[in-house]
Amino acid sequence: MWLGIDDTDSRKGMCTTYLAGDIIECLNNLGMDIIGMPRLVRLNPNIPWKTRGNGAIAIQFGKGSGKRKEIGYVNGKRYCYEKKVSDRGDAEKIIEEVDRIVRKRAMMESENTNPGLVILKKKPPYWLYKKAVRSIVGIEEVKSILDELDALYIPYKNGRGLIGASAATAWHPYDRTYEIITYRNGGRRWVDEESVKEMDKRFKKTFDNYDYVNHHVQITPNSPCPVMYGIRGDDEKELPEAMKSVVSEKIKRWLIFETNQGTDEHLQKKKIGDVKPYESVIVTGKVCSEPRTIEGGHVIFSLCDGEEIECAAYEPTKNFRALVRKLRKGDKITVYGGVRDEPRTINIEKMKIHSLAEIYEKKENPICKICGKHMKSMGKGKGYRCVKCGTTAKENDAVFEKVDRDIKTGFYEVPVVARRHLSKPLKRFKPSQGKY
Ligand code: ATP
Repeated sequence: MWLGIDDTDSRKGMCTTYLAGDIIECLNNLGMDIIGMPRLVRLNPNIPWKTRGNGAIAIQFGKGSGKRKEIGYVNGKRYCYEKKVSDRGDAEKIIEEVDRIVRKRAMMESENTNPGLVILKKKPPYWLYKKAVRSIVGIEEVKSILDELDALYIPYKNGRGLIGASAATAWHPYDRTYEIITYRNGGRRWVDEESVKEMDKRFKKTFDNYDYVNHHVQITPNSPCPVMYGIRGDDEKELPEAMKSVVSEKIKRWLIFETNQGTDEHLQKKKIGDVKPYESVIVTGKVCSEPRTIEGGHVIFSLCDGEEIECAAYEPTKNFRALVRKLRKGDKITVYGGVRDEPRTINIEKMKIHSLAEIYEKKENPICKICGKHMKSMGKGKGYRCVKCGTTAKENDAVFEKVDRDIKTGFYEVPVVARRHLSKPLKRFKPSQGKY
């Protein structure tokens, strides 16, 4: 059986992944085995009503068999099994117990917290996940899928959490990464910066731990949630060791999740004319208005493929903006990013520069063929005239020099400090993928 849960936290506290620990403990107490790893599934990052990272949880349980693997510590060691033998368990009893945990832990008083809890024997169709990670899903649509599958579900308040809870159970890890999340012991959140850098260098398959350009520890969240830190990586086996190497305040519990973080599954290739708000897109075109910096330090330019759209490197993307400022009209690029509605803008996560336009700068006015002297401009766009003999010349008769672009073709990404959960870091691209 699958359990899905979402939308239990608020900006003031809690974290749905923390609740996952309580649920795993509860399932074990009810005699259930956890099958496969608990899943942390990120959904559409552009949903306006998300709390932070739009993450939901899916856990498979029943009677397990095969290899047993340690997945965490929550009031004792926790394990998962490789395979499912049967759907052992009384779903009604389980949802009743988990409901008690949700009521106790969820931040119900917050207007934006609308939890959803589902228990299903059969996973919802994969397209539900695909739609939820890429666009907007309606709650009625989800309820009809749940009813068709004979699922047990509890919508709390407006019940919007059912969308994320169901979509998380529908995920199939065609591509996957892992995250080990540690939780505080009620104390402050503190990690030793040097130990994070050392961990980052030592455990090669982890990613997004530390921003060396902006000197920022990325593994700790900024919200008042119970998380101490989370380490992401491609190899789950590295993560417990990586955790042990980080020096921090006391940790009360930890869990490893299988996740869709760093997979780019939110992105879809589009023509500019087909781009819709709240989607995340991959768009190729030519720069058609040069970058300008607006109030707040955001850098904006336009991209054209017949239609035109504005692209932005917002202030939080820090040093990435310096690169974007070097773009010029005619450069052929592909941008990867989330689409903002008003004004309609692509918020750049990654950028591939395919080719750079050749740019020439005027160095000297043309020289008069008769007098051998520099001619004078007759005004912008009006050409030149020799003051001595009156000979005229065209604008492009001036002496031009090719400008050194100080930028190279290739793939660029925003710094770690501005990285979105779903964005695939360039570190995860295979060399053969570097050129798409
Ligand atoms: P955290 O990451 O800290 O757990 P959060 O950012 O996940 O918090 P939620 O509190 O879960 O934010 O809020 C997201 C809400 O949006 C949930 O109710 C979820 O069901 C809903 N939701 C997620 N994806 C979609 C979608 N594609 N269409 C419509 N609603 C969605």
